[in-house]
Amino acid sequence: MNPKRQTIHFDKKLIDKDALKVLKVLHKARFEAYLVGGCIRDLLLRQKPKDFDIATNASPEQIHKLFKRSRLIGRRFPLVHIMFSARKYIEVATFRASHSQINKGGAARDNHYGTLKEDVFRRDFTVNALYYDTKKSQVIDFVDGFSAINESKICMIGNPINRFEEDPVRMIRAIRFEVKLEAKLDPKISSAISQQSHLLGSIPPARLYDECVKLFHNEKSYRVFERLLETGLLKYLFQQTNNSKFIKKALNNTSERLKTSKSVTPAFLFSVFLWDSQNKHFNKLQKRNKSRFEAMNQASEEVINRQVKQVLMPKWLSARVRDIWLMQHQLEKCSVKKVNDLVANPRFRMAYDFLVLRSQSINPELRDRAEFWTQIQK
Ligand code: ATP
Ligand code: MG
Repeated sequence: MNPKRQTIHFDKKLIDKDALKVLKVLHKARFEAYLVGGCIRDLLLRQKPKDFDIATNASPEQIHKLFKRSRLIGRRFPLVHIMFSARKYIEVATFRASHSQINKGGAARDNHYGTLKEDVFRRDFTVNALYYDTKKSQVIDFVDGFSAINESKICMIGNPINRFEEDPVRMIRAIRFEVKLEAKLDPKISSAISQQSHLLGSIPPARLYDECVKLFHNEKSYRVFERLLETGLLKYLFQQTNNSKFIKKALNNTSERLKTSKSVTPAFLFSVFLWDSQNKHFNKLQKRNKSRFEAMNQASEEVINRQVKQVLMPKWLSARVRDIWLMQHQLEKCSVKKVNDLVANPRFRMAYDFLVLRSQSINPELRDRAEFWTQIQK
């Protein structure tokens, strides 16, 4: 099967300069190399791509040799990160054969690199499988990804049942792209999700952490949450979380912050998602005559322990979540003497934001208190 090729001259200003440099070096060394995935999808939709990934027929070692400031990442399918600053890198991946093709080859594990065409078919959705040839200014399309983008449709490459079995994380990716692109999910995808959502339970919590941050740190965060509830996927990520006015308020607030380029942290997300459950535990423990401090600590511990079985919370993150929770009481009932200490606390701002969102949703009785802290900062 030959791919469709469409000539499209993207405004060069929209394409990352460093990615173009990487392509140039690879081309000069006579390798095939293309921009691929999310960046082409987003450029076609006139959205700003988050990152520019490159796919090539050069092996990781060959790529590494061409770029002084590069490092190999991952073991089974090493990728190369080409560093342009402490935080900025371009990811270059060697064409890969899909799972099934590797399996057919039996033990041919070290021979898993593939051709461009094979690389297409190991990708998840047709909208994510377009390649861009910068030399010819052509989009290369093996899977009708171009029309899926134009028609706003999320379709799986291959049979969703098999592809979700291969990698259940694709189910939450489907929801992420459905919402991000305001697209329709292919009914085959929806029905496969309803049959297979439980497979998410087998994914290592560390991998789900990264995916969860991507799920909720975006401009349509609450819509993602609603879709995860509707599809039954939420309970495999946040078993202790139910919908509430507070969650809606907080997620919409996260989206607003992103729209205005303010910083966001996953600590805020987790503290919001687990707050209700933490509170219920806390109240139960207090009825058993535990001190406030003890009840607070124990409730936090239990809720966090349960959460990390599903989605990892790195240590720095769970520490921050506890701080936000602990400070709620202090912000609610603080003596005049301690006001300045609290404001000077490095966690004050986050805890204050949390209090404000509570007062605007589930705890209207805290409005005066929130207003008090707003005034203090002026
Ligand atoms: P975003 O704009 O959110 O970064 P993206 O499409 O670039 O979206 P990434 O997670 O950065 O998503 O992945 C890059 C590309 O790698 C995807 O476009 C897709 O082609 C492929 N990919 C990523 N994860 C998977 C997966 N679990 N299964 C198959 N293909 C995947
Ligand atoms: Mg990406």
